Amino acid sequence: MKRVYLAGLLSLLCIQVQAAVDVLGVRSWSSPAHTRYVIDLSAAPNYQLSPDSTPGQVLLDLPNVEQTPAHTLKLKPDGLVSGIAFEAMGGGLRLRLDLHDAASPVVFLLPPATQHPGYRLVIDLIAQDEAPAVLPVPTPSPVPSSPPVSSPVSSPVSTPVSTPVSTPVSTPVSTPTSAATMPSPPAALAGRDVVVAIDAGHGGQDTGAIGPGAVYEKTVTLAIARSLQKQMAGVKGLRPVLTRDGDYFIPLVERREIARRHYHADIFISIHADASPSRGASGASVFALSLKGANTATSRFARALAERENQADQVGGIKVPEHDDVLAGVLADMVVEGSLEHSLHLGGDILDELKGFSPLHSHHVEQAGFAVLKEPGMVSLLVENGFITNRREERHLVDASYQEQLAHAILQGVERYCRHYPLPGTYFAWQRQQAARTRTAEVN
Ligand SMILES: [Zn+2]
Repeated sequence: MKRVYLAGLLSLLCIQVQAAVDVLGVRSWSSPAHTRYVIDLSAAPNYQLSPDSTPGQVLLDLPNVEQTPAHTLKLKPDGLVSGIAFEAMGGGLRLRLDLHDAASPVVFLLPPATQHPGYRLVIDLIAQDEAPAVLPVPTPSPVPSSPPVSSPVSSPVSTPVSTPVSTPVSTPVSTPTSAATMPSPPAALAGRDVVVAIDAGHGGQDTGAIGPGAVYEKTVTLAIARSLQKQMAGVKGLRPVLTRDGDYFIPLVERREIARRHYHADIFISIHADASPSRGASGASVFALSLKGANTATSRFARALAERENQADQVGGIKVPEHDDVLAGVLADMVVEGSLEHSLHLGGDILDELKGFSPLHSHHVEQAGFAVLKEPGMVSLLVENGFITNRREERHLVDASYQEQLAHAILQGVERYCRHYPLPGTYFAWQRQQAARTRTAEVN
């Protein structure tokens, strides 16, 4: 019985593998260091990066994919890609991507999901000389733009080809060690800077909420983020970095990775503006990750908001399944490290500063399952700077001086938190030691 069943299953699988697959569409989006192409397909394809690929050209072989009349597909160069075409190869197809500069390809298949009934083959291209020159690390002094690195990079074809279906995206963002960006010796004695990643919510095709006056959330968040970065750059002991500095889409997972793996951020602050069907809803609020996972929240308001913010990836066209066990692990790590508890401390300090000039929608730090906050090792918060759906607040949110005030309040909160809970090895810890020494000297 069993053998018969297995044989039947095998022949079924063979039929599936051999059946021709149709290309239904091709989509793409880019950030400065990353370009993603997604090929929508009628079924799971066979695929393999061709050994004929070169540093300037990625060739992806799709032996069981049917030729699709080229004019029915919109193939557009985007980001790191200067040219894209499907070419006939045997009975199947080959996708050719010509690159402006050397980039590492990572290819994986996403299974059908609620939002996407078909299979999606994802080709991620990560710039090889992707360095602070691309996502600028702000420093108070003007930095001469680094010379163009025309590095003929060895072989960019990293070969993880027949990737299992639900591999998480984890783009291998190369990490400049923080030692490389450490301050000069005298400053080093005083401890390192606390790295604060400022994440302007939404971007590109993901506009975020839209106000009655047609103001986009993605525009407001970038303006506040830039103002916060500018003001924070002037504060000793803090080093602000932006996860995005332009109008482009970044998946939620990648925002965390840029902050943690690329910049080694200690603190992550995601900037947003709220939306509600009730036009009267108003006020700022601060959110941390919920201790109990994605399906619990401190209020209905928090849960609804988390659901909406988590849709950003779907708007951007991707859906990376995050399993409950993965989330459980992340939460366990965050509890052990205390980063969740510290997120609540920081959130409280920011709320205290915000209430000085802005109405608050909630007077305590709310918690829910925000995908963008699920990163162990960082104190992570999401700040909703008021309701863009409220006419009065929408007018405030586009006002440059109001944006500066909001940014200033967040900065004050961060400074206050860093003084209360100085991270070991940082300038704030050193400052506290100095103060203790001075007091001891005075007593003696
Ligand atoms: Zn938002």
